[in-house]
Amino acid sequence: MNTLYCACCGQPFHRSSPRGPAPLYCSRDCRRQIEVRRRVWASLALAERVPAAPRVTPAPRGAGGFHQGGMTWERASA
Ligand SMILES: [Zn+2]
Repeated sequence: MNTLYCACCGQPFHRSSPRGPAPLYCSRDCRRQIEVRRRVWASLALAERVPAAPRVTPAPRGAGGFHQGGMTWERASA
């Protein structure tokens, strides 16, 4: 049996299925967390590379406005 460590919270967990690529996270929640963090990191990196770009404020956790591949928080002022 494979023991894996969550890339988000670091907890050990067992992969539920031997098929497919090994999961990186212990739960869907952790996967979402990393997705959110990645976007924040990406926007920060972008902001550093382009000083003139407006700062993007990450949406608060649990806002429910995240869509796959979309930068929905750019229109969070609505
Ligand atoms: Zn986790």
